[in-house]
Amino acid sequence: MNILMLASEAVPLAKTGGLADVVGTLPIELARLGHDVRLALPRYAGIEAAPVTLKKAPAVRVPWRGDQLEVGIETGALGGGAVPLTCIRYDPFFARPGLYGEDGRDYPDNLERFVLFCRAVMEACKQPGRPPDVLHAHDWQSALAVAYLKTLYRNDPAWVGTRALFTIHNIGYQGHFPVSAYDATGLPWSEYTPERLEYYGQVNLLKGGLVHADILNTVSPTYAREIQTAEFGYGLEGVLQVRKDRLFGVTNGIDYNVWNPATDSHLPARYSAADLSGKRECKRALQTEVKLPARDVPLVGMVSRLAFQKGIDLIVDILPRLLELDVQMVVLGSGDPSYQTLLAELSARHPDKLAVRLVFDERLAHRIEAGADLFLMPSRYEPCGLNQLYSLRYGTVPVVRKTGGLADTVVPYAPDVRLGAAATGFGFEKPEPEVLLSTLLLALRVYRDKEEWTGLMRRGMQQDFSCQRSARQYVELYQRALAL
Ligand code: ADP
Repeated sequence: MNILMLASEAVPLAKTGGLADVVGTLPIELARLGHDVRLALPRYAGIEAAPVTLKKAPAVRVPWRGDQLEVGIETGALGGGAVPLTCIRYDPFFARPGLYGEDGRDYPDNLERFVLFCRAVMEACKQPGRPPDVLHAHDWQSALAVAYLKTLYRNDPAWVGTRALFTIHNIGYQGHFPVSAYDATGLPWSEYTPERLEYYGQVNLLKGGLVHADILNTVSPTYAREIQTAEFGYGLEGVLQVRKDRLFGVTNGIDYNVWNPATDSHLPARYSAADLSGKRECKRALQTEVKLPARDVPLVGMVSRLAFQKGIDLIVDILPRLLELDVQMVVLGSGDPSYQTLLAELSARHPDKLAVRLVFDERLAHRIEAGADLFLMPSRYEPCGLNQLYSLRYGTVPVVRKTGGLADTVVPYAPDVRLGAAATGFGFEKPEPEVLLSTLLLALRVYRDKEEWTGLMRRGMQQDFSCQRSARQYVELYQRALAL
């Protein structure tokens, strides 16, 4: 198949979250399966630092507010040449310090920025005589490409027969904009209705993908069901219920070449399920690195965006009580300034027990995955979640809320079920501080039973959540779209 994928981030070029991990690995796996995949991304400032060489290609003219705009194109490749890359270069929009905003505030012209990105992709990735079989777009930033395919480019010979798959990585982010910005989309006003892109008097870019795609998916089967309910659908549950026959769940896979404690070059020592001894060294080194006493005490890790979604309020609530126990915790996260302040204050009060790093640091993320004993993810909702998958592979037992992808990937320990059961972590239902605390207390009790704990670690390390498996499931969705 000939697949054109577009997204607003992909490792190793640009990353704010799990979307980047998926979009950076999926095309490479698809290419390994024998498909022709091209990936299109915005050309952000800072991309120069990535280990990818970009070359200038002929510019394209993009329809823009009744006129045309000349937009730069740079090309390169991912996966050792396997996946050609098209980067859309328009410095007034993309040469900025952030991807979507700065200091916790979105850029006010995000609609224009991603309109231009999608429209430029539709122009730059035309291959005369060879329309892609599938256009695969991710999240609100790329959703307009699906809408363009089905409206403005409907009769364009360069796109004839192309089917669209739209992937929802997080329905909490929809790209809402005032109606005054609608003209910039270039779409006819007939698309601005409640059945299409309108949402309670605003433009909703995500809906452009939801209503126009041939097939939809989200990143776990449980989340695919959850978003059809008012509790999780963020107002779009009705749209998804209508399209439920076209909506699927594909659990994200991870790149075990990057996230593998047996080969990870970011770690001071390496280890595997067969020989766990290196993990002790990783723990000691992590304690030293984050200035916690290097003692034999349960170490809880967390790597997360600091957002309400991630249950940070629950953690802040229980931390004073948790830190009365003989435990240590290390938090790596950035985001909501109010959570940053609360965590920094708690850490200042308990410097021997709580280490907080309020930055985005990929390498420290690896060392926390390796050095911690438990990994905390009390998300209020979690489309898939990648950190629990990394934790499983690193023998760092996840403590999760049973929602979305967390429910699909972690088998919770049940005290009444005999040792040898399938448990790989700990889980709880209600997003309440007391429930989280009692689950952590259970985990800390089991931690003292070395045999039981090692069993949990080893079982987690042997799970297979590889990106090869998820790539095969995406191929099935492409085939389904083509068969429509
Ligand atoms: P989300 O996409 O909702 O943020 P995921 O668990 O799917 O959550 O993916 C988060 C990704 O971002 C993981 O690869 C995680 O390691 C990484 N990450 C999040 N915060 C940080 C941080 N402060 N430093 C380094 N990596 C981070």
